[in-house]
Amino acid sequence: MSSPINFQIVESESSFLDPRSDYTQTTIRFQVRTDPLTKRTGHFSHFVGLTPQKLDLEAYTKPELKGFCPFCPENRGKATPQFLKEIVPEGRTSRNEAMLVPNLFPYEVHSSIVIMTSDHVVPLNGFDETRLFDTLLLGTEFLKRTRKVSPSLPYHLVTWNYMPPSGGGLVHPHQQYFATEHPGNLVMDELRASQEFYEKHGRTFWLELINEEMKRGERYIGETTQAHWFTSFVCFSRLGDILCVFPDVFSIDDFNESHIPSIISGLLKVFRYYQSTGIYSFNASLIFGPVGQQSFPCHFRIVPRSFLNMRDYASDMAFFQIILAEPVCMKLPEQICREVREYF
Ligand SMILES: [Zn+2]
Repeated sequence: MSSPINFQIVESESSFLDPRSDYTQTTIRFQVRTDPLTKRTGHFSHFVGLTPQKLDLEAYTKPELKGFCPFCPENRGKATPQFLKEIVPEGRTSRNEAMLVPNLFPYEVHSSIVIMTSDHVVPLNGFDETRLFDTLLLGTEFLKRTRKVSPSLPYHLVTWNYMPPSGGGLVHPHQQYFATEHPGNLVMDELRASQEFYEKHGRTFWLELINEEMKRGERYIGETTQAHWFTSFVCFSRLGDILCVFPDVFSIDDFNESHIPSIISGLLKVFRYYQSTGIYSFNASLIFGPVGQQSFPCHFRIVPRSFLNMRDYASDMAFFQIILAEPVCMKLPEQICREVREYF
């Protein structure tokens, strides 16, 4: 049976008289891909690439740059808020170095932060199984609590901005956990398209996608116990995105402690790849859909970020992404897959 998933690529080119070669004609190729689920497009161009910029992590510990950090252990007790008793009776919860606190600047009814480490600055190779497990366990236990307190909130999100190029306001490692009715435009687009696919084909898009990616092998990276990892056909970042799907988890109710090592195992491999390519920053998310549906499984996405240069800290997001809502990627997902697979 042929797959209803269509990976559409429009190849095109642009020509000009090139000052670098005595004004002879040069032709540059680019692609526009259409996401097989949402039908949103993404550009792939500028294949000469983007060199991820090295961050001076040591400098972030210097007092003049560090400033006051509410997440450092000596400040947590006084500078972080406590939960209402009906949500977290203990006020805050902790596990080894990790601590769950409310977000002092909430953007949802239940908006929390897990401070991941005691150390203020943690390089990628400083995230071990224990630190990641403690963080994800504290955070997802919080999301499960919100299900009891506010069962009508359908979406549960985990997000992580790591290091300043990602937009993270504090370098001290922390993740956000929140329950919401409004998970964002992209999640809503994906959810609606997943439901439509399910109604039309009687199958789950994401399971079809896993099967199709495994069969094609161009973007399929590997498996970690209960999850499948592959590069995204359309990428949000200039350096390409990696996706991980849990085909048997649809809502936070289906997620349990046994799923956490599966994320960690893949993530540590991705981190080793990032270190090998000089990536110092990323955004990541773990998305849970509503209870009771079978069309939109839980998935994790990690997106590298970098300043374009360190001379004037140019952002890697510009008019394309912000005004046109169109991602631009400088590396093909198939190439990224070949590189990441070395670490799986
Ligand atoms: Zn700190």
